[in-house]
Amino acid sequence: RSRGRSEPERPRPRPKPPVGAVLPVVAVAGRPNVGKSTLFNKLTGRRQALVADTPGVTRDRKEGTALLRGRWVRVIDTAGLEESAPETLAGRMRASSESAVAGADLVLFVVDARAGITPADAHFADWLRRQGRPVLLVANKAEGRAGADAAMDAYSLGLGSPVAISAEHGEGIADLMGEITDRLPPEPEAVEPEEAEVLAPVPDATDDETPAPDDRPPGPLRLAIVGRPNAGKSTLLNRLLGEERMITGPEPGLTRDSIAVQLSDAEGPIELVDTAGLRRKARIEAPLEKMSVSASIEALKMAEVAVLVIDATEGVHEQDLQIARLIEREGRGCILVLNKWDAVEDRSVTRQAVADRLETSLAQMKGIPVVTISAMTGAGVERLLPAVRKLLAVWNRRVATGALNRWFEAALERHAPPLVDGRRLKLRYMTQVKARPPTFLVFGTRAEQMPEDYRRYLVNGLRESFDLPGVPIRLQCRGTR
Ligand code: GDP
Ligand code: GDP
Repeated sequence: RSRGRSEPERPRPRPKPPVGAVLPVVAVAGRPNVGKSTLFNKLTGRRQALVADTPGVTRDRKEGTALLRGRWVRVIDTAGLEESAPETLAGRMRASSESAVAGADLVLFVVDARAGITPADAHFADWLRRQGRPVLLVANKAEGRAGADAAMDAYSLGLGSPVAISAEHGEGIADLMGEITDRLPPEPEAVEPEEAEVLAPVPDATDDETPAPDDRPPGPLRLAIVGRPNAGKSTLLNRLLGEERMITGPEPGLTRDSIAVQLSDAEGPIELVDTAGLRRKARIEAPLEKMSVSASIEALKMAEVAVLVIDATEGVHEQDLQIARLIEREGRGCILVLNKWDAVEDRSVTRQAVADRLETSLAQMKGIPVVTISAMTGAGVERLLPAVRKLLAVWNRRVATGALNRWFEAALERHAPPLVDGRRLKLRYMTQVKARPPTFLVFGTRAEQMPEDYRRYLVNGLRESFDLPGVPIRLQCRGTR
């Protein structure tokens, strides 16, 4: 028998999800010990990161990305239990998975085929059915023939036929992947933003936001410097690099058109998500090429916080506001830099004019931090990175569900929800489904019909009461019966 020449196996680069893609969300839920984590690891491989804990909130939700049959998905393991968890196991399961389930495109409900269906499983199944999210029942630990038989027990939950797998032994995983992808919403078509489109009014879209690249391992803070040509972006970039003296050079291959520049401050590394054009220009210190607005969008997709540079001697232009709206649409934190402050004649008049303009034209991002600098002389530049750090913390903030609902009740009392078609909206409760940016979900009868002004009332209240300035706030509404 002849053997083919065996080539030494070379490590292949692990594929990565496309930066900035909108990924469907798959939540893994179920009792402790049924094998959720094992399954999560099986699906995601090593593409996972522990979601950073917010101080004061015990929660260790794991999130990761997985490539299933050619389709990237975001997987959330709901194993963590919240601090003030209810007494019963079913109650605890609910509390820990509520927000993940609410935001999921598909819920994998995992049961233990060996242990059989327990009362806690049955309670959880009842609750899950009422959440109105698509559920796929997974009977784990079903290795061998005995296991496959035991899996049939799960039919009794009334959630359709269970998919029998063994996460530990890798059995049935390929089938499971197929069952998952079959149930996902259709893939959105990729849209290339054109400059012309961007200059048209930006719609108040909240659904097409690109998810922040938050499933990468904890790494540098990613910062984009954006703004109109001649605002002083390259000068600022040079200034930051010069002051920090920590240039580690371009990081190759983030994406084809972008180059990351790294520096660091007292709190750790910072990656300036930059475009090749801006960088090249900064190097040769000549206005070779102007950064276009579409280049700003590319930078925004990779950033966590955006620094919007404005030429203070010119005031706030419509195009500046358009870029700010893009930042809000992409869901990033925003800091406004008023540059060329050295050349401004009447500073208090300028400051007031800018504040008024933001108040009237950028209400959706109230409280944007404003930092006045001179990139040319360096004055004020030292205040920029601390402001960026502070904003990142706000962008990452998670509000505890208890405090949120105490506030929500009071807000409903102060201002009763309006009538829609002669019937009052009955709003029941609110939960923060994610951070980066802070995203809240309101449940209630006909909640999905909430009028815009009432939504604004709630968003403004959230911003004030939970101290969320300068970041977009998303409010989703889901009707319940
Ligand atoms: P979780 O708490 O629900 O996330 O469950 P874990 O993933 O931590 O798994 C609980 C236990 O079940 C661990 O000891 C696993 O090794 C074991 N386990 C997970 N999957 C399987 C499986 O397919 N078969 C068997 N026999 N054990 C499994
Ligand atoms: P970019 O197109 O946004 O990258 O802007 P540049 O960094 O190329 O700056 C445009 C022009 O503004 C250049 O002539 C800079 O010298 C000038 N400039 C940049 N920052 C300042 C500043 O803080 N004060 C003054 N007076 N001029 C500045």
